[in-house]
Amino acid sequence: MKFVSTRGQTEPVGFSEAVAIGLAPDGGLFLPEKLPNLAAHLPQWEPLGYADLAFEFLRLFATDIEPATLRGIVQKTYGTFGLADTLAPLRKLDDKLHVLELFHGPTLAFKDFALQLLGNLYGHQCAQRGQGINVLGATSGDTGAAAIHGLLGKPRTAIFILYPEGRISALQERQMTCTGAANVHAIALDGSFDDAQRVLKEIFGDSEYAAKHRLSAVNSVNIARVLGQCVYYLSAWLRLPAADRGSVEFVVPTGNFGNVFAGWLLHRMGMPARGFKVATNRNDILHRLFNTAEYRSEAVQPSLAPSMDIQVASNFERFLYYALDENPTRVRPVMAQIKATGAYRFDVLNKATFSASRATDEEISGVIRRVYGQHRYIVDPHTACAFKELNPARTSVVLATAHPAKFPDAIRAATGQTPAHPALEALKARAIVKHRLPADAAAIKAFIAQHAV
Ligand SMILES: *Cc1c(COP(=O)(O)O)cnc(C)c1O
Repeated sequence: MKFVSTRGQTEPVGFSEAVAIGLAPDGGLFLPEKLPNLAAHLPQWEPLGYADLAFEFLRLFATDIEPATLRGIVQKTYGTFGLADTLAPLRKLDDKLHVLELFHGPTLAFKDFALQLLGNLYGHQCAQRGQGINVLGATSGDTGAAAIHGLLGKPRTAIFILYPEGRISALQERQMTCTGAANVHAIALDGSFDDAQRVLKEIFGDSEYAAKHRLSAVNSVNIARVLGQCVYYLSAWLRLPAADRGSVEFVVPTGNFGNVFAGWLLHRMGMPARGFKVATNRNDILHRLFNTAEYRSEAVQPSLAPSMDIQVASNFERFLYYALDENPTRVRPVMAQIKATGAYRFDVLNKATFSASRATDEEISGVIRRVYGQHRYIVDPHTACAFKELNPARTSVVLATAHPAKFPDAIRAATGQTPAHPALEALKARAIVKHRLPADAAAIKAFIAQHAV
């Protein structure tokens, strides 16, 4: 299986290469050259456990990795999540309403499903090439923690995560700084998240330095993340009563459009479903897109669901590619205009089974209270966005993207309950190890050079 760039100016590459380079050199995102048709596989996959299902699905794409090796990578990945039946439980709240809990991984957020896999794929590549890798990223919260836990203690790898000192939650900081692993370097910058991103850009902009230290970016666009996320949709779909499968709507808390895109891609490969609802917080660029056919970035506003405080949906380009008939010469001018002006208006936007909703902070609190009252079930502020406008007549699967214990203040304010999780409590007893550095590329580069593998 080859992977092509959405912008069509990169030679098609194999799976391992697409994973290693992340972003295509022409600035586009990788997608499979031709999507497999899953219709014939679905009945055979029904009895499989999660890791076996992940293996059978991923082997259709990772054709340049020996099947036995790939099976090992996948088993190692999903073995860390605990027992098979607690990996991605599908909870039934009422006859039509199911919640797919994706927060039982090491950092208690759905990003673990993709970043644990990516970490093991990197580990495999390092071993195969006999070369180390230094992963660098900037985070305002969840992605940094999930990326760190994907690489924790892996040989020949080091990870450097920049974050703004004092501007992420105490629990998020603990998840990154209390790992005890020697290959993890949490760098608290004196500055804002924008400063951290600026420094990151500057470091990657020095291509000689980046090549010398074999730097790789943590980003939300790696194709392995998308494919890794497809598996939990498949797993949920296969556990629904057969009569509900074709009419189910997946409702997905959305920021970068990565999670919901994975489900939609699976639908394109032949998994029947009624549709996919993009649930945003007050940063509603995608809600506006699907309701007005205009994509327009605005200033980011902080919200109760911080991992969705995004106004540039990185994975949107992948949807665009399909919406424009898989024609990269049509994708390029649209992306160029978005880059130049921050906006694009479609004459006709083929919404292709997508719909959208948005929730303000007040609505998020209201939903948390209502769902707790109706079902005695506590949802985190991200998941709450998805409960905003559920259609009770329809079979819905809501994707729960984070454990409520990660956001105790918002939950307490809404319900009076304070959710806890033993893994988070355990962190409170451990030492914080972080490096305070100025938001200055030269200082960070010197630090990386000293600690790189
Ligand atoms: C990252 C994140 C999201 C948004 O996912 P995207 O793939 O960026 O759309 C939603 N909820 C939580 C808890 C997250 O960490």
